[in-house]
Amino acid sequence: MKPYDLIVAGGGTAGALSAIAAARCGLRTAVIERSSCLGGNMTISGLTEMNAPTFHGQPIYRGIEAEIMNTMIRSGDAALYTEVPFSSNPSVKVDRLRYNPEILKILLDRMAADAGVEIRYFAEIQNAEKEALAPDSVRLTVRDNFGTSEVFTARYLIDATGSAAAIRMLGGETTRAEVGKTMINTLMFRLSGIEQNALDAFVHSAALSETIQLGMREGVLYGKILAFTPIPGTKDVSVNVTRINEDFEDPIGMSRAVTEARAQILPILQFIRARVPGLEHAALAGIAPILGVRDSRTIRGSYCLGIDDLEHMTEFEDSIAQGCYPVDIHDPATGGVTFQVLPGVYHIPYRSLIPAGLHRTLAAGKILCCDRKAYGAVRVMPIMMNVGESAGYAAACAAQNHLDLDRIPAATLQAFLKKKYSCPPSDPPAG
Ligand SMILES: Cc1cc2nc3c(=O)[nH]c(=O)nc-3n(C[C@H](O)[C@H](O)[C@H](O)COP(=O)(O)OP(=O)(O)OC[C@H]3O[C@@H](n4cnc5c(N)ncnc54)[C@H](O)[C@@H]3O)c2cc1C
Repeated sequence: MKPYDLIVAGGGTAGALSAIAAARCGLRTAVIERSSCLGGNMTISGLTEMNAPTFHGQPIYRGIEAEIMNTMIRSGDAALYTEVPFSSNPSVKVDRLRYNPEILKILLDRMAADAGVEIRYFAEIQNAEKEALAPDSVRLTVRDNFGTSEVFTARYLIDATGSAAAIRMLGGETTRAEVGKTMINTLMFRLSGIEQNALDAFVHSAALSETIQLGMREGVLYGKILAFTPIPGTKDVSVNVTRINEDFEDPIGMSRAVTEARAQILPILQFIRARVPGLEHAALAGIAPILGVRDSRTIRGSYCLGIDDLEHMTEFEDSIAQGCYPVDIHDPATGGVTFQVLPGVYHIPYRSLIPAGLHRTLAAGKILCCDRKAYGAVRVMPIMMNVGESAGYAAACAAQNHLDLDRIPAATLQAFLKKKYSCPPSDPPAG
């Protein structure tokens, strides 16, 4: 098979944008994705709300990310809301982009096809050959659901699997929270038959917190969260309420967790139908096919993004992405959500994407090198899309300059990114 310029392992939140960005720059790009759509957590875990896509209504994202947001806003399949409080802590507010994930699946397919990305769905990375053994290329063995194994070779690899699966196979070091200290998991579900005005009034009243307290006392709710997100273009809401404390790397525990999370849904539905105005006639319209896992491994990279960097909004000469989301940790010890509001727009350096000891591989998405508190902030979708898109441009910049990914001078990368984020002129989301 003809070698690719770039393989993106995992076509999720970050990986989809990496692939589209690199392919638009002319790189022959393949995505290996184990599910049947692009977007990962954005499209398959029942989530319908991008957190902090703007900062107090001001656009902060450009490029492909802004193109995606604006395309959905224009078609009525997304809508931007400013300063929306959290159900778990109403004094903390961030802007949100609410969207229809089914439309996003179709949009990402189309954008990837138009860019010339080759997608392999139902396919998983089975093995990655150590760089020293494959000095001029990255070699990955990919196995699909149909029982076929195939070797893919490329000049560069972006690991966007959300678990650093490929980087670990290459011998890259990773770290993770201690067992028992990982963030709580959630199985999202969707309700139809909503009376939206009544629900809106309830969500913006003190009755929401009282209902959460009551649900916890009655043993129906397992944490201080009851979040309803209206899905633009539909009459449905997605519900973020189930809580399940299980280690994300324990296969037996994860099977038990998804079963237990599903079992929480009917008692919750009965409770909210009786207590929440607007949901009296709500019907269960869907349960996410996968358990939403907030935690993950992170790589040991050339730079470890720390909470200090976010608090001080450190400007890096190799800054490649930005964000403004607060630290948001779903604490297994308390069952609650701990927030730390940050002062403004912070930056993510390219070096936090470079796995120590690897030269032709980047980490994109929530596996980037950061400390636990910084992880709690940067893990949200708008930031991960920005990281993914910039990782794709970095691969294109490296290819254009015949460099390894860990050898791109900061100034060269910045000049490349500046061009890509302003050309073609992007249409940032309206505030
Ligand atoms: C319950 C929950 C609620 C959340 N709520 C919000 C919210 O309201 N707003 C917000 O902005 N963020 C939210 N987040 C955070 C956010 O959704 C994720 O952190 C982010 O989407 C992660 O992006 P990623 O690209 O790193 O991983 P993902 O989007 O998970 O992408 C990883 C991709 O890799 C694929 N993959 C994995 N392993 C392999 C393999 N071996 N071979 C091939 N493919 C593979 C997966 O199928 C997936 O498509 C939430 C997360 C969770 C779990």
